[in-house]
Amino acid sequence: MSLPVVAIVGRPNVGKSTIFNRLAGERIAIVEDKPGITRDRIYSRSEWNGRDFHVIDTGGLEFDEQDEILEHIRNQAELAIEEADVILFVTDGRDGVTPADEEVARLLHRSNKPVIMAVNKIDDVKHKEDMYEFYRLGFEHVIPVSSIHGTGTGDMLDALVEHFPDKDEAEYDEDTIRVSLIGRPNVGKSSLVNAILGEERVIVSPVAGTTRDAIDTPFEYEGQEYVLIDTAGIRKRGKVYETVEKYSVLRALRAIERSDVCLIVIDGERGIAEQDKKIAGYAHEAGRAAVFVVNKWDAVEKDEKTMDRFKRQIRDHFQFMEYAPILFVSAKTKQRIHQILPMVSEVAEQHAMRISTSVLNQVLHDAMITTPPPSSRGRRFRVQYATQVSVKPPTIVLFVNDPELAHFSYLRYLENQLRNSFSFKGTPLKMLLRKKN
Ligand code: GDP
Ligand code: GDP
Repeated sequence: MSLPVVAIVGRPNVGKSTIFNRLAGERIAIVEDKPGITRDRIYSRSEWNGRDFHVIDTGGLEFDEQDEILEHIRNQAELAIEEADVILFVTDGRDGVTPADEEVARLLHRSNKPVIMAVNKIDDVKHKEDMYEFYRLGFEHVIPVSSIHGTGTGDMLDALVEHFPDKDEAEYDEDTIRVSLIGRPNVGKSSLVNAILGEERVIVSPVAGTTRDAIDTPFEYEGQEYVLIDTAGIRKRGKVYETVEKYSVLRALRAIERSDVCLIVIDGERGIAEQDKKIAGYAHEAGRAAVFVVNKWDAVEKDEKTMDRFKRQIRDHFQFMEYAPILFVSAKTKQRIHQILPMVSEVAEQHAMRISTSVLNQVLHDAMITTPPPSSRGRRFRVQYATQVSVKPPTIVLFVNDPELAHFSYLRYLENQLRNSFSFKGTPLKMLLRKKN
């Protein structure tokens, strides 16, 4: 259920970001001819031979500015070892083996993770011998690549995919609601976990006798099975975890991937931050149900308008997520904590809702009569019929005369009409256009 994760590690300037861009299939990271440049994006979804996976470019993780370069590399390697299923260790074939490469190799050998080594910048077959000295770093898979030309990247991807864990069967029953708490460090996720699990009517299932820490926490509430995703990750504490703001985004991404419902935790005391938007944006893009949980409400000085003002701020900052309900809670005083699970249950139901084709078409038909689609250059957009093709999130295919004629604003109108009729509270809606011949 959770996708395999590939983490790219290596010292600066070897071409990690170039390789990341190739795997991501879009030029999204910033590549510049100087070491240590910050990237826009360090996490992407990718696909090779029908296997989907995630890629992390650890070179884009920002650590403490004061740290020495080696310290940087060590932190990156540590994160890669922690997070990845397979590690892609990139080196520069032109420079040969450097002490920093040796340091990375030493750290990676100590982990039990499979490592694929890409010797990059082998742009020309006549430089292929440059790769042989890298065998002395002791890895079995050493693959010459030129990420600029794309040569060797197929072999590299084959090797990576070969080491993915076996496709895991569904981890939990289809009816179990998978919930995650996501948000920046210190917003109160771990306190909320304790508050929710500490509720009287919550029955936490005893964990089967394993020796390692359970990652998730299954529990029951009002006869419904739930599982709190990545509880161990939320509670984990350590230098790297605390200091790397971006790391919290990675953690959130993996949790989002495995969830049905995401509780997006915002610090009521400190307000909304840029990082909150990124995290929420990923939940939306991934098609998960979402609830905004504004925590630490006890610590906010308020009058009768404060809550409305905060709500408006949330709507302003997260315009693409108007569907997500907002709760104001306090993990500390337990204020409104008892509203969280009923809300989770409600949005989970909407997330899995199926609308019959006849009812769906009736609503769309009425919507198009009330406000007909605008015409453009004498041609009018027309929806012949629609059908819901899947759930989680509800996905609707519109069979139309010509997808090119569809206007964003008109699709938005149709979505709003669907929401007026069916609510879809807490869930994104996917609308796909197909040309009807
Ligand atoms: P990072 O710091 O490890 O992420 O390295 P970058 O991806 O930013 O690349 C560093 C520099 O190496 C850039 O100038 C790239 O254009 C260059 N580079 C990356 N891959 C190749 C390659 O396969 N061949 C050559 N000749 N240059 C490359
Ligand atoms: P996490 O990093 O998101 O898991 O956040 P924690 O649960 O560790 O909480 C961070 C800090 O915020 C701790 O000092 C908590 O005691 C405090 N905190 C958490 N929830 C609340 C709350 O509802 N009210 C107040 N006043 N403080 C809180």
